[in-house]
Amino acid sequence: MANNFSELVREIKACRDCRSLFGFEPNPVFGGNQNAKILQISQAPSNTAHATGKLWADKGGEKLKYKWYQISDKQFYNPKNFYITALAHCYPGKTKSGDKNPPIICAKKWLVKELEVLNPQLFIVIGGLAAKFLFPDQNFTNLIFNNQILKGELCLVLPHPSPQNIKWFKDHPDFESKRLPKIRKIIHDVLYRQK
Ligand code: SF4
Repeated sequence: MANNFSELVREIKACRDCRSLFGFEPNPVFGGNQNAKILQISQAPSNTAHATGKLWADKGGEKLKYKWYQISDKQFYNPKNFYITALAHCYPGKTKSGDKNPPIICAKKWLVKELEVLNPQLFIVIGGLAAKFLFPDQNFTNLIFNNQILKGELCLVLPHPSPQNIKWFKDHPDFESKRLPKIRKIIHDVLYRQK
């Protein structure tokens, strides 16, 4: 199992399948331990992550880590706590209105294999595209406001914390006032649980 995991990490890091699609050199950015407590799955690394190799080090990341989860960088980037991945493991480039959608080929090739070898106690799925891939045909808002089960473990679905998502937050004020405290408690329980 560990060998499978190490080999998988090596293969993903070496992947350049999307070079011609992106028009620039792909840079897979993801990581964590095989037995990380939480497996966090979002849409794709940001331009900042592409340039620096550090995930969630932008405005959306600040909101996610400090306001929503209320944890420190030390806790978030501890590979025993979080394995951080996405539908696409590389930044896919920009459109006029934002980042390009992640190439789903990446999720089909690599994310499904990560799901086979990782053993989290909790899944966190961020954003509509990731939710659609893992929970096809289910209503995104219902997914967010109710606990889900993925591969037999508890799964929390979150909207994307990006500042560009402001309309969703305006339309769903109960998310931050009512749902988020419950989500935060589940995350803290998993992080602080002695196992
Ligand atoms: S996005 Fe995924 S499939 Fe495309 S180059 Fe990066 S790792 Fe490979």
